[in-house]
Amino acid sequence: MLTIDGSVGEGGGQILRTTLSLSLITQAPVRITSIRKGRARPGLMRQHLTSVQAAAQIGRAEVSGAAIGSQEIVFRPTTIAPGEHTFRVGSAGSTMLVLQTVLPALLRAPAPSTLTLEGGTHNPMAPPFDFLELAYLPLVRRMGPDITATLVAPGFYPAGGGLARVSVAPAPSLAPLTLLSRGEIRSKRAVATVSNLPNSVAMRELAAAAAVLGWEPECFKPSVLNGGHGPGNVLTIAVESEHVTEVFTGFGEKGVRAEVVATKIAEEARDYLAAGVPVGEYLADQLLLPIALAGRGAFRTVRPSSHTTTHLQLLRDLLGIRAAVEQISEEAWHVEIDR
Ligand code: ATP
Repeated sequence: MLTIDGSVGEGGGQILRTTLSLSLITQAPVRITSIRKGRARPGLMRQHLTSVQAAAQIGRAEVSGAAIGSQEIVFRPTTIAPGEHTFRVGSAGSTMLVLQTVLPALLRAPAPSTLTLEGGTHNPMAPPFDFLELAYLPLVRRMGPDITATLVAPGFYPAGGGLARVSVAPAPSLAPLTLLSRGEIRSKRAVATVSNLPNSVAMRELAAAAAVLGWEPECFKPSVLNGGHGPGNVLTIAVESEHVTEVFTGFGEKGVRAEVVATKIAEEARDYLAAGVPVGEYLADQLLLPIALAGRGAFRTVRPSSHTTTHLQLLRDLLGIRAAVEQISEEAWHVEIDR
């Protein structure tokens, strides 16, 4: 049986998720050892355990070691079962990362699926729902499958309690994706959202973001979300271009001034615009798996993160892809994937 060492590279949760995704697709059993060894609290946390359980549900898999804190699992899928599935993270853990685990297998499944995801929909250190909807899914749709995502109720960390629905109409194969330029910029906007918090938090964030970005005043909007459990605050900056939409997200945190949150995220968006590339840091690591499954593709991006280099190495090892990453200017990198 194939054994994957979960401590290689940055040794985080991605090695677990991608290995599960590929085990489902290839139907090859796998042992994953030293899970999240590179993290301060290694082993399966709630959200990782839900990812394992979700993958087991989709793959009707036999699993051993699936428990909180476990650093080793064996996963033996027996099929890919599309259809209706509900996954509950059971805390504010990211539902979006659970989706990231099972989506690749469902993209090419023999029938459509409808997923109900309960837990966190807007988490730090994970793709927020808006990123999924605006940035990621349109690109996956371009590769063939049709996917729609609906936010029924937001779930902010730490309260959670969110609900999202995702429908997947698969395609027999994924088309290669090439994203070398972003084309003309069509719209830029910054939306500061509060849920069970004063509107003044949103206004302060917008003022700080405007100071960094210098865009027209109509690009900045406050928003109040009803229906969320507990307090939540998110600043979402979206840059819509001809070929891609990129989304930058910052979360309000207790003890961190609204201006600090907003300035950091606005600087990220500003640096992306200055680099002149289509793909930002997070989209880069998330596009690797669908492109590797398509067998071919290329994109231009900002400096690759350690997350991206770890993910790329894992895909080389597991799928035998060839991948080249080349710096093409001070701020731009070219990523090329091939079989
Ligand atoms: P660990 O706790 O081991 O780090 P994890 O499973 O919580 O594990 P990572 O392995 O670091 O998390 O993976 C995080 C994923 O979330 C990556 O795919 C990354 O691209 C994505 N992500 C993180 N922050 C953002 C963001 N602001 N916007 C979009 N995606 C994000």
